[in-house]
Amino acid sequence: RYDLNGLGELFPRLRALHPDKVALITSTREVTFAELDRESSNLAAALVRRGVVAGDTVSLFASNRWEWIVSYHAALKAGAVVNPLNVMLTAEEARFVMNDAESSVLIASAERLSAIQGVLDEIASLELCICLDATVGEALSFTELIAEEAPDFAPVQVEPASLACIAYTSGTTGHPKGAMQSHRSLVLNCAYTAIMHARSDDDLIVTALPCTHVYGNVAINGTLMVGGTVALMERFDIVETLSLISERKATLFEGVPTMYAMLLNSPELAHADLRSLTRCTVGGQTIAETVIEAWERISGAPLIELWGMTELSGLGTTHAAYAPNVHGSIGVALPGTQLKVADIDDPAIELPAGRPGELMVRGPLVTMGYYNNHQATAEAIRPDGWLHTGDVAMHDGLGHFFVVDRLKDMILTGGYNVYPAEIERVMIGHDAVALVAVGREPDDIKGEVAHAYVVLATGRSATESQLIEYCRTQLAAYKVPRAVHFVDSLPTTSSGKLMRRKLRELRPEADRRLADAA
Ligand code: ATP
Ligand code: MG
Repeated sequence: RYDLNGLGELFPRLRALHPDKVALITSTREVTFAELDRESSNLAAALVRRGVVAGDTVSLFASNRWEWIVSYHAALKAGAVVNPLNVMLTAEEARFVMNDAESSVLIASAERLSAIQGVLDEIASLELCICLDATVGEALSFTELIAEEAPDFAPVQVEPASLACIAYTSGTTGHPKGAMQSHRSLVLNCAYTAIMHARSDDDLIVTALPCTHVYGNVAINGTLMVGGTVALMERFDIVETLSLISERKATLFEGVPTMYAMLLNSPELAHADLRSLTRCTVGGQTIAETVIEAWERISGAPLIELWGMTELSGLGTTHAAYAPNVHGSIGVALPGTQLKVADIDDPAIELPAGRPGELMVRGPLVTMGYYNNHQATAEAIRPDGWLHTGDVAMHDGLGHFFVVDRLKDMILTGGYNVYPAEIERVMIGHDAVALVAVGREPDDIKGEVAHAYVVLATGRSATESQLIEYCRTQLAAYKVPRAVHFVDSLPTTSSGKLMRRKLRELRPEADRRLADAA
């Protein structure tokens, strides 16, 4: 099953092996492997008939739904380049991305298509629009296209090293960049994910990770690849997550740290039956060990950490399901992938175990570069092939890596480097803290200082001075946040990642709450 040149060859194999097995469960439909294959082939043939040729870019703009998966595989089967658009993009941002990716086809939900009608004329390369729902404007109907039978259609042959997908980074630290993913990197990442987590056709995963994001993509395709079933939520919802796990007897739940923190903070958790879970995965941002331990205690399943990047088409590290999970560590390098920790000021110097520096990656997973952006590519990939991850990390000499934080998030206070993630890991250990994020504030004397933003746990209370005192007992004085702001929620990207650069915008809300409380 792994001898694929590209993911476009995957569904025909799975159809031959498990035709009538349910591959995908969503709130609107259960889809078998045979249906996934037939409908994606019908759509691919329809694209080819309407002039789509190998190398054309097909943008996908919709939330998690079965039609997304069919469209992704249809585009790959047609030999086209997929361009997943984050559903949270504004019309202006979607226009920028589609122009940047030179998109010729757009497949979108009616809701997204209506939202961007006004900018479609400004995407010069766009030739065809397909709508997943009742059609909007001149768009063709997805429902009609997947019903145009094409039994003789065979996926277009692709070169493994050629471009499969232009995937934009999450934009957590700045403007999203279009990372070019090859067919090879996608196939390898899905296969390695399946191997590392010991996925099999006995697995049923539950996830709300966006299809558009690399973590969602490898969780979904890495499970389908081995004949497993994916229960896909349109968006993360605590009650739906718990009932899917209980009712479908899910073997894996996969999500970002915030999802676990929210599940652990929910009263519904006490009534859920999690006994079917055999392991769970978490990644995308730093996770506190207290959250890992609490989830493992309550679910009875190991929580496997992973680390990845859009620039790697998925994961770069994870723990093997069959090896002990070293808590707090992002795991070991994926097969065939080299990792090293380099001196931040001189990347040519490799640092020994225990010394934090910039994490560098090399190997077949590394992006072909940023689409139409030679400067960003040259800054990120060194001539010898090592990719700058922008993450500060260290290793233990035994192959386990530990992420400290992002280089860009580091707070320089009175000459010391402070990593927000370290403070967050401590604060989440306080009973009254459900979610926490630490951001930087300019300071006349110290240059910068740390401020914490806290969402209190249901039914708990704590004051600013109590939380600061708690930090004092566990952190060196220069790391203790200068202030704590209480808020209702934290700013996140659509994949659920914290957007630290937006934290300061929460200040008015926090000040209002404080005034109300007084
Ligand atoms: P942008 O590059 O546009 O700022 P982004 O880096 O968030 O956005 P992604 O490619 O989705 O875009 O995310 C990759 C980054 O996510 C990694 O570089 C790392 O900073 C972070 N990350 C992923 N997994 C983990 C993890 N387990 N622990 C800590 N950080 C993680
Ligand atoms: Mg990044």
